[in-house]
Amino acid sequence: MDNLTNVAYINVAYIVAAVLFIMGLKGLSHPRTAVRGNLTGGLAMLLAVVATLFHHGIVDFKCIVGGIAVGAVIGTILAVKIEMTAMPQLVALFNGFGGLASVIVAAAALSENIEATAPDQASTSLSFSIATMASGFIGAVTFFGSLVAFDKLQGLILKKDLRFPGQQFLNGALFLLCLGLAWWGVMTPTSFAPYWLLVLAAFGLGFFLVVAIGGADMPVVIALLNAYSGIAAAATGFVLNNSVLIIAGSLVGASGVILTMIMCKAMNRSLPNVIFGRMGEGGEVASADEVYEGKIKSTSGDEVAMLMDGVQRVLIVPGYGLAVSQAQHAVRDLADLLEEQDITVEFGIHPVAGRMPGHMNVLLAEADIAYDKLIEMDDVNTTIGQVDIAIVIGANDVVNPVARTDPQSPIAGMPIINVDKARTVVVIKRSLSPGFAGIPNPLFAADNTLMLFGDAKKAIHEIIAAVKEGL
Ligand code: NDP
Repeated sequence: MDNLTNVAYINVAYIVAAVLFIMGLKGLSHPRTAVRGNLTGGLAMLLAVVATLFHHGIVDFKCIVGGIAVGAVIGTILAVKIEMTAMPQLVALFNGFGGLASVIVAAAALSENIEATAPDQASTSLSFSIATMASGFIGAVTFFGSLVAFDKLQGLILKKDLRFPGQQFLNGALFLLCLGLAWWGVMTPTSFAPYWLLVLAAFGLGFFLVVAIGGADMPVVIALLNAYSGIAAAATGFVLNNSVLIIAGSLVGASGVILTMIMCKAMNRSLPNVIFGRMGEGGEVASADEVYEGKIKSTSGDEVAMLMDGVQRVLIVPGYGLAVSQAQHAVRDLADLLEEQDITVEFGIHPVAGRMPGHMNVLLAEADIAYDKLIEMDDVNTTIGQVDIAIVIGANDVVNPVARTDPQSPIAGMPIINVDKARTVVVIKRSLSPGFAGIPNPLFAADNTLMLFGDAKKAIHEIIAAVKEGL
């Protein structure tokens, strides 16, 4: 086969892979077709990789085999060891590595180009130079921003959001510096210095953009970093002149932007504020003692079972603690038991409950809870006054009424599930510890709230046993 025919076949394979990527994304848009969508996306990736391997002259098989071996070992260990609740950290790392890959690939392409170009003739195309700088810039912001996001989600060093006077000014100055360095790089395509200086400045920008964002706003940042990693990959596609990378990167970038916008809407935040690292700037919050002292009423599984006697409507609001405790099957058993007593049981789903978008949907689907029983926050809130008992299981921030009542709070303005407006609230958690946003929750001290302290799974089993005993 001559080279021209070879290239034609490769391009056809790339187009088929791109179509499969789009079909895969379409499939992922609904839980029923999600598994098929995932497999279609995987098939597309396999086709794209195989086609690239046949692209002689671009790849060195020794490096590819070495890379696959190292990547497969690390990937397998991570996939086997990772807890479901640590998934967002893993996603943050994946985004970061995607960004780092863009930085390295663009640097390699630049190095090859500098070697191939005689110092006295600047034959580099303008589009190549712009794409290289864009790839290095966005990739470096994504890499360092994602490392900070990983650190925060894992609760390692930067547990609190780091803010200082002039932070916005510093971000603006770093952004302008990056633009200047990129301009210098485009103007002197045979020099390596501007590229690496740009990467360094962009590392700093990534750090300062994400470090200021705290607590409950992290989901939006992760979605945005995901979008950045896609845009960086698309820019790298232009560097390498590889159409499937441009298409796949654009798809990741576009879907990441859409997800960011959905998350912004869910959190009532503005997109420009997310992009410029200005979010949730709360003032002083009340201390736990002020909020809870002398007002907490604890309950038991037996008492909760008694409360269920004669009620018509129960709302279960799951949160991160449900995932930690892996209580999804126990919750399904409780729901089935209550439904046998002709009680209507629904699940109130907050868009950022848990630690990743759709976390609660995935968890409850794992326990075969029918999808039509999962009611979205806005719909739950319209009829919350008719709920006899709201059982909050391992959720905290997503039911914290200060979002509505205290404009000083870091979660001010974030829509919540208004369980405090139900007739009775039972909150299942182990202690009075705060949730991810790190603030006390007056719901626990409200007149109509009873606290059932303990691990979620254990507490639900206690309720189930008590309900069965009373039958
Ligand atoms: P929260 O993090 O607000 O609260 C979870 C609660 O679960 C804790 O207060 C904890 O209390 C309790 N808990 C932990 N383990 C157990 C257990 N074994 N049994 C019972 N309870 C347990 O969770 P929410 O779901 O309410 O809110 C999610 C938060 O995470 C939001 O602030 C959101 O912005 C943020 N976030 C969301 C992401 C997403 O994409 N969904 C991504 C990143 C952050 P205790 O220790 O007392 O048991």
